[in-house]
Amino acid sequence: MPIPDRNLGTAMGRGFRGRCPNCGRGRLFHAFLKVVDRCDACGEDLHHHRADDAPAYFDMLIVGHIIVPLALSVEVAYAPPYWVHVALWGPLTIGMSLGLLQPIKGAIVAWQWANRMHGFEAPADANRPQRWTESRIPGTSR
Ligand SMILES: [Zn+2]
Repeated sequence: MPIPDRNLGTAMGRGFRGRCPNCGRGRLFHAFLKVVDRCDACGEDLHHHRADDAPAYFDMLIVGHIIVPLALSVEVAYAPPYWVHVALWGPLTIGMSLGLLQPIKGAIVAWQWANRMHGFEAPADANRPQRWTESRIPGTSR
């Protein structure tokens, strides 16, 4: 039995909006960065995700690539006093970082789901390759 495709773009869009990557209706988060164990609407298991530090990494990457060119452009064009830079870019950097962190995490969890990573495989599929487990490493079975 073939494993059904999971559309990466659709899933990541749903995750970015904080919705279940499978159905798009259930909530993905039960707190700011806490992913629900299971979708309220469709029952999809979502506890498998291993987003780890990736959301923070991509958050800093994106915000940095927006703020630094803006700050340099303002400096070159207007040469304002430094307190203006601090007052402008400090809150903007913090606001953008916090505002994008949950959507980015949602998109990464959905990316893992769409690519069947970390336990997001189709359930009860006997044809899929077995996951590598410690018991399959020679010399570790008891
Ligand atoms: Zn769902």
